[in-house]
Amino acid sequence: FVESKSPEWLDIHNPATNEVIGRVPKATHEEMLAAVDSCSRAYHTWSETSILARQQIFLRYQQLIKDNIKELAKLITLEQGKTLADAEGDVFRGLQVVEHTCSITSLMLGETLPSITKDMDTYTYRMPIGVCAGITPFNFPAMIPLWMFPMGMVCGNTYLLKPSERVPGCAMMLAKLLQDAGAPDGTLNIIHGQHDAVNFICDHPAIKAISFVGSNQAGEYIYERGSKNGKRVQSNMGAKNHGVVMPDANKENTLNQLVGAAFGAAGQRCMALSTAILVGEARNWLPELVERAKGLRVNAGDQPGADVGPLISPQAKERVNSLIQSGVDEGAKVLLDGRNVKVKGYENGNFVGPTIVSNVTPDMKCYKEEIFGPVLVVLEADSLDDAIKIVNKNPYGNGTAIFTTNGAVARKYTHEVDVGQVIFFFFLIFRETIMYSMWKIMCFLNLKIHKIMFFFSNVI
Ligand code: NAD
Repeated sequence: FVESKSPEWLDIHNPATNEVIGRVPKATHEEMLAAVDSCSRAYHTWSETSILARQQIFLRYQQLIKDNIKELAKLITLEQGKTLADAEGDVFRGLQVVEHTCSITSLMLGETLPSITKDMDTYTYRMPIGVCAGITPFNFPAMIPLWMFPMGMVCGNTYLLKPSERVPGCAMMLAKLLQDAGAPDGTLNIIHGQHDAVNFICDHPAIKAISFVGSNQAGEYIYERGSKNGKRVQSNMGAKNHGVVMPDANKENTLNQLVGAAFGAAGQRCMALSTAILVGEARNWLPELVERAKGLRVNAGDQPGADVGPLISPQAKERVNSLIQSGVDEGAKVLLDGRNVKVKGYENGNFVGPTIVSNVTPDMKCYKEEIFGPVLVVLEADSLDDAIKIVNKNPYGNGTAIFTTNGAVARKYTHEVDVGQVIFFFFLIFRETIMYSMWKIMCFLNLKIHKIMFFFSNVI
């Protein structure tokens, strides 16, 4: 840990009040160079350290995260705004990845094929590649950094992390805990900043691979710039997730799940279910959906009973409000309007209440753009085929869900929909974040997965 000598600092705000709660430096070029050099120097020894020794550090690390989950959550709520329950979930999902790193002894096994030709066998080893870097967004200050450096490091790489400049505190606390767990100096370095830090990561020759999570605009840029420099780059970007509601679905559960998945974490999840397609008679469920959404309590994340916290910034609030208005201007109907929500004691916060926009068509701006706020846009379709056509035409494809009690319908949807993650709600429980972590774990293990299907039953 070093004090930055940077002349340029950014304010960090509490989204519930917009008060300045801290400042983060834009690391100087010399500081960024020192961080990469530190990673490079540590790599030689770290990559030669036995897997069992690396595993021990992560066994201690997962325990330290568990012991500090409440403190981490408080910091997340302060900087990011989400409710304390959501913040604990944020840490918990990241913790699951750290727990997964503890299985590294089986995950790093290679393969052999004897006698591939005469007197020749083939062996596959999984080897670290050097200094890896992560660039993370504001919406999951713990989970997303924890997808990255623990798995990279336990495999023998060293890691340079650039957390979102809007929520830098959590990454620093996670780094301190890793140091306490026994990670040698240099194995993890954190630099702070914005575009200069990102460009530095894309360009520095010692960095071999980049993991990015965030918006399309930044992700496409980083993918192009990093790849041009010969690095492996993975960009996990924006989303517009559709939930197709069939009339045979269990109504009670479907409405509850829609409300939770659309408005939870104020819609600031890349797996938020931000678009519902009501098929046939399911269109009559709208009034009840509105009633349920009205029941959610909008409040500062640390207040008891809060369901929906603030958005990250006044700019985010303005953008969400203007996308709602664009729907109105283009002929959609706002059935529930959260734009003028007032939160007592937090009048300066970036709050938008749950909003439901119906009569939406695929050519509207509020449908085409990722809103990233507590807004559910609702379309209607006459049949499953029509619903699938709508989903497949949308350029985003992070996740999708179908609510049905019919196995044949669920199977058809899975096979015909062009989205990476498909979730069936047969009748029951939506454990989105667990599935999400499972998926991320698999992705970060570089498993080639086209589609992942999740089946849920009452017993889960
Ligand atoms: P963002 O793209 O603004 O920021 C992400 C990171 O990129 C930050 O560290 C930021 O400093 C940097 N950055 C921002 N703009 C940049 C630019 N023009 N050039 C270079 N670097 C830049 O994203 P955000 O607002 O922090 O996060 C929200 C977005 O992340 C949403 O679009 C959401 O869907 C997406 N997201 C995706 C996933 C996923 O797994 N696909 C998960 C979480 C969030």
